[in-house]
Amino acid sequence: MKKLINTTGAVVDEMIEGIVAASNHLAVLDGARVVVRADFAALRDAGKVALISGGGSGHEPAHAGYVGEGLLTAAVCGDVFTSPSTDAVLAAIRTVTGPAGALLIVKNYTGDRLNFGLAAEIARAEGLDVRMVVVADDVALAEASETAGRRGLAGTVLVHKIAGAAAEAGQPLTDVARAAQQAIDHLATMGVGLSPCIVPAAGKPNFTLAEDEIELGLGIHGEAGVAREPFTDAADIVRRLCARVFDFLELAPGDRVALLVNNLGATPGMEMAIVARETLDQAARRGLVVDAVWVGTFLTAIEMAGCSITALKLSGSMLEALRAPAAAPAWPGLAGEGGVVRRVAARQAASAPKSGVAPASDPRIRASLQQVIDALGEAEPYLTGLDQQVGDGDLGLNLARGAAAIGSELDALAGQHPAELLRSLSAIIRRTVGGTSGALYAAGLLRAAATLQAIDAPGRGDWSRALGEGARAIAQLGDARIGDRTMLDALLPAAAVLEAEPSSSGDGLGRLGRAIEAAQQGVRDSSSTASRRGRSSYLGARVVGVADPGAEAVVVWLQAIRRALG
Ligand code: ADP
Ligand code: MG
Repeated sequence: MKKLINTTGAVVDEMIEGIVAASNHLAVLDGARVVVRADFAALRDAGKVALISGGGSGHEPAHAGYVGEGLLTAAVCGDVFTSPSTDAVLAAIRTVTGPAGALLIVKNYTGDRLNFGLAAEIARAEGLDVRMVVVADDVALAEASETAGRRGLAGTVLVHKIAGAAAEAGQPLTDVARAAQQAIDHLATMGVGLSPCIVPAAGKPNFTLAEDEIELGLGIHGEAGVAREPFTDAADIVRRLCARVFDFLELAPGDRVALLVNNLGATPGMEMAIVARETLDQAARRGLVVDAVWVGTFLTAIEMAGCSITALKLSGSMLEALRAPAAAPAWPGLAGEGGVVRRVAARQAASAPKSGVAPASDPRIRASLQQVIDALGEAEPYLTGLDQQVGDGDLGLNLARGAAAIGSELDALAGQHPAELLRSLSAIIRRTVGGTSGALYAAGLLRAAATLQAIDAPGRGDWSRALGEGARAIAQLGDARIGDRTMLDALLPAAAVLEAEPSSSGDGLGRLGRAIEAAQQGVRDSSSTASRRGRSSYLGARVVGVADPGAEAVVVWLQAIRRALG
């Protein structure tokens, strides 16, 4: 077990201290694991109803994260996945409850019901006005009568919010309790687990899931669910969760809902966003009106991967209460609404430069392009292999993708004026190659195009200068020099050879050959050094001895051009 904890016995206390120390408006009760609003005494004296929730720890940010303005007054934290003691709940009640009374919001687990219930009983005997509501939003279990009943899951957070708004507004306990109960009666949640979780004191997961298995309808204590099923994909899994949740609430087209898409702990934000997309899609297919949607980490099962989906059927003033201002560490505030993907048009360039000179119909251009396309396609595994060693392994595929895209437009491209051709290549590469290389090649080609702009039929000297200018543009944008172990180690020496020799010299092919040799020598030289630019620079001495893939790619396409011209 690898967890950022100190000792298993201190987990809850140290967690509480961390939460409270990192907040300006929370405090912890002396001698009890209870997090309270620092201003609870003022609220109590102002006649506000106190809201108390809690339960086992391990569900962070629930519930201490919801202590704050417009939400809870106090959260009682038990051991991990263990109900807090009656005395801890009682300490919370006694401390924060004033004449207006207190509402306890309890998730439906036997331990929580008993300890919160007994504490409420004792407090009432002491003359405090205390009521309790029980959240049982889990709809995974088909028939609840056979079991301890539906469990309380992430929907509890929406109950906090609705009751919290009522209490903050100064409503009497009866009304606060009624608002909470109304929410509970229209609430449904179902979860799916992709991995188990590890209770620190146990040190190992309490169930295992194969790579291709999911646990549908599980609880938030790492307990197994109603069905273990093969893993499919986000759309299918969300569809099943939503079907159950929406059916349970008997939602019909036109019904208004609030949705809570909850991370069970270890689901990446990327996946949560996709789950949100699918959830909203399911709501739209049902014809539901989504008045509010929240996506995030609200109530977890430690580090379990997976999510739960909660729907609350809205009526009365629920939406208003959900939208009322609140300030607690874990409450995200602004809710999404409507669930549609708003799209805005991207602005286009004002005007494209025109070369305004006669198109060249030089067959060598088409032949060179064809050779480069073929060569980059063939070199894909080789370049991929190099980039896997010193980068992230995408270079070969990226360049081959760019080459294929150029190939698909070859006829149109070959008929363009050279300046326009280079600009087109730049645009295609920008669109298709991606990564560092995509941006650098696109910049180089754009600069090269500018040097050919006003020339009717560029000759060898012009192409050489274009290559040199392009290489310098790459050096400028990438802030790299020869010896930094980049494509420039090949490109700059080659350009230097081509630019140095007078274009009047008859031996064009020989010159290109010497340029390629210079490029190859440049690659060899830099292979023995560490990288100073790009991803390779993170690897230090580990790259020594391996050729830079970007530089090798330059050699590949230079050789292809030479074959076309030879
Ligand atoms: P990434 O995957 O890191 O975005 P690519 O795989 O597209 O990059 O390209 C990697 C190649 O890019 C390297 O082998 C190197 O030749 C070249 N490169 C990286 N950084 C620079 C830079 N600053 N200037 C010029 N070339 C660079
Ligand atoms: Mg790469």
